[in-house]
Amino acid sequence: MRALFISDLHLSEERPGANERFFQFLEQEASGADALYVLGDLFEYWIGDDDLDSPFNAVIVGFFRRLTGAGTRLYFMHGNRDFLVGERFGAATGAALLPDPSVVDDVLLMHGDTLCTDDLDYQGWRRTARSAAWQRDFLAKPVAERRAVVQGLREKSKEVIQAKPAKIMDVNQAAVREALRHHGVTRLIHGHTHRPGVQRLEVDGRSCERWVLPDWYGRGGYLELANGRPRLVRW
Ligand code: MN
Repeated sequence: MRALFISDLHLSEERPGANERFFQFLEQEASGADALYVLGDLFEYWIGDDDLDSPFNAVIVGFFRRLTGAGTRLYFMHGNRDFLVGERFGAATGAALLPDPSVVDDVLLMHGDTLCTDDLDYQGWRRTARSAAWQRDFLAKPVAERRAVVQGLREKSKEVIQAKPAKIMDVNQAAVREALRHHGVTRLIHGHTHRPGVQRLEVDGRSCERWVLPDWYGRGGYLELANGRPRLVRW
């Protein structure tokens, strides 16, 4: 059993290098794996499944299709950038949408943003953007207008992030413990914070580990879980 985990690729037309590396990853590292888990922020943004056929998105869908067609199971969890990915994307790629959080084979999988509980502004925005009302209004706008809205949000988010203390944008340790305790597991895999590595901690006397996936802005990489043994691979 060999499963791979990726997140925070932030694919967009503006970063062709990361896109090429991603296609190579699907054809090489991921080829022959039993499962590939995408734990959010695969895309820099996703404005709705009706944009599935744009030339850029169509290429990505084609690569995923080849992977799932060859027998690798594909799972997709929403990130804070691509939370509008829906069932049409799933049907086109062969991906099953995975709720956040999910426990798979005794491993807790999350995107990671819900663990950043110190960032109150962000958690407020998250509640808005995940509400049915906001999503209905947004998806009712024409594609061009949605693109413009997202562009504005990205600019604003860059300014906000620069002004925020780094610690606020990392996970809250109490939230990590509570998640491990609540789900009764000893292993957590998530992305979002762009602080790849492993943290070992004790929760209620049990040894636990928290694996954080790398982003693909600078170096990319992934986590491999082969027969229960995790290995973080970066290039
Ligand atoms: Mn994220």
